[in-house]
Amino acid sequence: MVFITTIRHAIQQRSRMFLPTPIHLPRESRSKSQPLLQDAAIIHSVEHGFPQLLPTGFRVLTKLKSLIRNEMNNVGGQELCLSAVGRKTIWEISDRWNLMHEELFKFKDHDEEYCLSPTHEEAITKLVSSVCKSLPRSNYPLLVYQITWKYRNERNYRHGLLRTKEFLMKDLYSFHRDEECARVVYDQVCDAYERIFKKLELNCFKVPADSGLMGGSLNHEFLAVSPVGEDTLLVCPECNRGSLKNKAQCEHTQKIEQRAIEIGHCFLLGDRYTKAFNAIEGSSDIAVDKKPLVMGCYGIGVTRLMAATVEILTPKDSDDIHWPRRIVPYQVAILPPKKGSPEEANGNEKTLGRLLNLSNTEWFVDDRTELTIGYRLKDCQKMGIPIVIAFGKRATKQNLCEIIDVYNNRTEYLDYEDTLKFIQDYYSAFC
Ligand SMILES: [Zn+2]
Repeated sequence: MVFITTIRHAIQQRSRMFLPTPIHLPRESRSKSQPLLQDAAIIHSVEHGFPQLLPTGFRVLTKLKSLIRNEMNNVGGQELCLSAVGRKTIWEISDRWNLMHEELFKFKDHDEEYCLSPTHEEAITKLVSSVCKSLPRSNYPLLVYQITWKYRNERNYRHGLLRTKEFLMKDLYSFHRDEECARVVYDQVCDAYERIFKKLELNCFKVPADSGLMGGSLNHEFLAVSPVGEDTLLVCPECNRGSLKNKAQCEHTQKIEQRAIEIGHCFLLGDRYTKAFNAIEGSSDIAVDKKPLVMGCYGIGVTRLMAATVEILTPKDSDDIHWPRRIVPYQVAILPPKKGSPEEANGNEKTLGRLLNLSNTEWFVDDRTELTIGYRLKDCQKMGIPIVIAFGKRATKQNLCEIIDVYNNRTEYLDYEDTLKFIQDYYSAFC
């Protein structure tokens, strides 16, 4: 007997959904995403830099995590979960207890000092060093990752989810017996990052960067152009390569300066941490060669990425969120006729709902039929639902579905079969 735990289907009635009317919209925000996400009850607030996501926002985040997880598994990553709490004694070994002093949330229990971890190089290297003597050679290259909440005592928290003190991050760490292997994996993970951002409909630039406090020999930032971004990106109009200041990637001299959001960062760390923690290759099944393992680390700020997609994909001056099609909260919303209208008795929306269930489409019905179709449509648009299917007068009379293609601002009247085909074609273009 095999037991499989599946997640039961979520509530599908709009009237039951927890989508509270926002009370504290940011007075003034240079970012597009923060007011949009709060207004649509995707997030409740980001007060003091600590985000509170509502169910619809958590749906989007869960999908984004799956997308990233699949790509990390594809390159051989194994997911694990480390404690958010870092011990001072461990952080002192890398000297980052002092180097990152200002940015660490520090606290004490009865006898020891700790921090809430902003990143886990220390913890994972300590873990690997404690077991590496018994690891078989076949475990290398060892790629482990987690998608967990991280903490940084950030003075400049701002722009909603773009810069927060608490953030969801995917951090992958790789351990290698030699530099050559580390470089191969480095390129593979960079390629996986480019696939992730492409699937999210983002145009991103991979640029060589400074290693800062991380240390290491080689590293790249992944930047997406947005006016709210805090990095300066130079783009070459000749070959479309991006670079940071003083880090030219091509021979052309003319560059266009743009603001950009950092959405990913890859580091080839070398032995910066493995040496400090004595993580050496030396398993019981081979001749011992006491050299430190070569290490890489790879981060994606997941909550920041979620906000960045809204920042970049939502058209200027739009009141309606545009999501990457792969992570929309729901693929389809159904709007039944208004209560008391002659169309009401028809029940066409129920037929469509059954068909959508059969085709595994993620949908909900805005069953607040005391409201007009127009009002409910606006609500769906605000949330960023790409396809809304309404059963108004004209559609019902002709026994058709009125399909509102929200992102492309088009309307079509189609029968059930063509409606299903429309939905399938729409989303398969982004898979
Ligand atoms: Zn160029």
